[in-house]
Amino acid sequence: MRILCLALWLTLLAGCTGGPRIDDRYTAIGQSSRVQYIVLHYTSTDLPNSLRLLTEEEVSSHYLIGDTPPTIYRLVDENRRAWHAGDSQWQGRTWLNASTIGIELVNRGYTDGPNGRHWQPFAPAQVEALIALLKDIMQRHQLAPGSILGHSDVAPQRKVDPGPLFPWKRLADAGLLPWPDAQAVAQQQALFSESLPTVVWFQQQLQRQGYRVPEHGELDEATRNVLAAFQMKYRQARYDGEPDAETAALLLVLGGPAS
Ligand SMILES: [Zn+2]
Repeated sequence: MRILCLALWLTLLAGCTGGPRIDDRYTAIGQSSRVQYIVLHYTSTDLPNSLRLLTEEEVSSHYLIGDTPPTIYRLVDENRRAWHAGDSQWQGRTWLNASTIGIELVNRGYTDGPNGRHWQPFAPAQVEALIALLKDIMQRHQLAPGSILGHSDVAPQRKVDPGPLFPWKRLADAGLLPWPDAQAVAQQQALFSESLPTVVWFQQQLQRQGYRVPEHGELDEATRNVLAAFQMKYRQARYDGEPDAETAALLLVLGGPAS
């Protein structure tokens, strides 16, 4: 009884310090995390610059992973919004900063030289650190495999990061995202080689994956950008944005929505 009185007295005392009194003895079972996706980026620069940009400028991310050694920096609390995705869309949801966790990887991206575009590979240790972090986040927020996206998936008209050297297959091998069965893809590819589906079909399949894509049946610049984003993830040997038999097979076998 004495303990109860003391507890009551402390509660009243707390009430006197200002602000409304909140009784949190009850908890609703109907609730879930606000986080629906994780968006991956590269920073296009080295670690010191990445840290400066992500902490002193307007752009930010929840996590930054260095390359050597792969230290994981937490820059924004997961319960708060980081400013990493910008104008973005996936599965009809828009402006994804509110519903995503952003992870930046220290990587220079690409440089254009006399021999064409050169992309920087990701350090294996950095990828392993990322996988450990992803597993932890997905478990805590109850995210399904397939909720990991690239910036290029959610903003294919503006962004190419994390780029065609990002090891999506390694993430799939770790059980973090669905991956199309190679044998099924080969069979479908043979069929599609005889008769390629229409542009509208490609646009519908890309939309089924989650991409924002036109549906007018024309192979315009916007559609090519989305095709290239898909290819950068699932067919990294060629990401020219051309609708071809292998891309069609990958889309069909993957199905959708990827979740
Ligand atoms: Zn980005």
